Amino acid sequence: MTNILVTGGAGYIGSHACKALAAAGYTPVTFDNFSTGWRDAVKFGPAVEGDLRDRAALDAAFAEYRPAAVMHFAALSLVGESMKDPGLYWRNNVLGSLTLIEAAAAAGCARFVFSSTCATYGDQDNVVLDEDSAQHPINAYGASKRAIEDILRDFEGSHGLRHVIFRYFNVAGADEAGEVGEFHQPETHLIPLMLDAIDGKRDALTVFGTDYDTPDGTCIRDYVHVSDLVDAHVLGLRWLEEGKESRVFNLGTGSGFSVREVIEASRAVTNRDVPHTIGPRRPGDCTRLVSGSRRAETELGWRPERSQLNRMIADAWRWHQNGHYER
Ligand code: UDP
Repeated sequence: MTNILVTGGAGYIGSHACKALAAAGYTPVTFDNFSTGWRDAVKFGPAVEGDLRDRAALDAAFAEYRPAAVMHFAALSLVGESMKDPGLYWRNNVLGSLTLIEAAAAAGCARFVFSSTCATYGDQDNVVLDEDSAQHPINAYGASKRAIEDILRDFEGSHGLRHVIFRYFNVAGADEAGEVGEFHQPETHLIPLMLDAIDGKRDALTVFGTDYDTPDGTCIRDYVHVSDLVDAHVLGLRWLEEGKESRVFNLGTGSGFSVREVIEASRAVTNRDVPHTIGPRRPGDCTRLVSGSRRAETELGWRPERSQLNRMIADAWRWHQNGHYER
């Protein structure tokens, strides 16, 4: 069996990636410090507890498992938090990733799949973004991810470490079989917060700003089903196995939905009211982040088949009612 080192394998996207890797015949080896991830979410392969900034722990993991590739999900990923404490983001995301990339290069593990973000593009009103759009992040989260992209490009030149970078748009939904799902503590993301408000697990959702330059005044995002997203990673891994060149792919659907539209869809899917109030803008939020997926579709053969808004909310709702993890 071929081992793949999955950093952040205990997190939302990483745990779904482990499932997809196992289904594709790989052994996912989770490397996670369990600061935001969950031991219960590691179901498809072994786990190593360690921090990305701990080079010795990384070296030991590379020596023990000899992974053929790294899939790097582990990161802090909250826009609002990154605006309040940028140092946390530069230390954890950038220093941690640099240490990981150096350890991979030293171990001769030359295939690297990296989860980056549309937040690297920043605010570019009314354009559908593609991979060649300029990157001008407006928050420390996006800036930290862009810096890691730069590090990967440098290490390709110096060490021949080839990479596939995926810039995600908004990830939503949960594994259809309910084996893994989205569970953050604290939760800050729109759809899980909304589901909590719907079934009374928390107070009303606050809509962050209704004065954006969009048709209904709320921010627009491009939501992708987590299971579609991780399928792209398996295709990215194969791309590298085939010896193809380093490449950046956006993972979006080309359709944007406003916060109000997501609320409406949730009302329809759950057949329940969505208690919500209007609040001020959240610092660091872009007005609109929408991407085409032409490059991923034509070059990787990726199809975001499950990424209809109602389906993502229905899958999230099913998980929300039945699944959770314990520390
Ligand atoms: N949002 C909101 N209220 C919340 C959480 C999020 O109005 O309690 C909005 C947020 O401003 C953004 C969208 O929902 O426009 C998606 O936010 P989320 O935090 O889920 O993802 P992000 O786009 O920040 O990665």
